[in-house]
Amino acid sequence: MTVLLMRYGFEFRYYRRSFRQPLRTSHGLWNIREGIILKLTDEQGHIGLGEIAPIKLFGSESIRDALRFCRQLPGEIDASTLTAIPAALPACQFGFGSAWQLLTCPKPEPLEAPLSYSHLLPTGAAALQSWQPFWEQGDRTFKLKVGVASLKQELQQVEQLLYALPAGANVRLDANGGLNWNEACQWLQACDALNTATIPEARVEFIEQPLPPDQFEVMLKLNDQYETAIALDESVATIDQLEACYEQGWRGMVIVKAAIAGSPVRLQQFCQTANPDIVWSSVFETAIAQHFIKTRLIPSISRSSRAIGFGVRHWFADSALNQTNFEQLWQSL
Ligand SMILES: [Mg+2]
Repeated sequence: MTVLLMRYGFEFRYYRRSFRQPLRTSHGLWNIREGIILKLTDEQGHIGLGEIAPIKLFGSESIRDALRFCRQLPGEIDASTLTAIPAALPACQFGFGSAWQLLTCPKPEPLEAPLSYSHLLPTGAAALQSWQPFWEQGDRTFKLKVGVASLKQELQQVEQLLYALPAGANVRLDANGGLNWNEACQWLQACDALNTATIPEARVEFIEQPLPPDQFEVMLKLNDQYETAIALDESVATIDQLEACYEQGWRGMVIVKAAIAGSPVRLQQFCQTANPDIVWSSVFETAIAQHFIKTRLIPSISRSSRAIGFGVRHWFADSALNQTNFEQLWQSL
């Protein structure tokens, strides 16, 4: 018997946008975000937009791989195209999978409380001048990249920031795997001391990916040894890796960058079984992927009240790709 699969029109457009100022991480400087917006159209003319926002440094495909994949597809696709996207293209799996869900799945119940945001602050002394507007918006969580300058200098800056922030503020420290064992212990010790002191009143919520992903066993040990929590990030870039860390005993926090993790359906299935402690995070994607993650993915998966790491709009020079009028956004490409 021949099964006739529903066919969808497929178009895609490339985008490229500059960071207002280059983003400094322990991997180096990042100047330009590139990605792809894809459009699926069903036979009734309904449209689902998806976004492919790869970061090769984080273990996803490169933008070049993603473009090559899109270019070899025909102008019409069906469900078999989705299931055939290789595991080596997790950002493509997300982009197609999210557009597909928009067209074929009912919207989940919205969250009861509005999402709160974590804001990435610039490194160095500038952090002290940057948190106030976000605080006034009602957000209480801030993130700093560490492992970039000397430990002594950075520790001092973190202390200064904690003393400057009001009670109720949380600070996340992201090392991007740039520390060694000794440095990680020094950071965790210092954070334990700061968190148990009466002053400062602000707290370190967790240290993100202190060591490189190949030192998983050591991070398991560190997570047991100190009070300050560790959140895995680069170690769990894709759903395959997230599953592998769970199998090896990780029950701590995990950062999920949904846009590069792979198929949203698989993520939903994994989370329903394992119920991980998730911190949702951005990969500097446009409003298209952000909207899907916030209104579809998060409500279908987690009821956690942890701030989501999507406070990144102010990092881009343009605003066209931040807008939620998606018709206009598509036209701007
Ligand atoms: Mg991180």
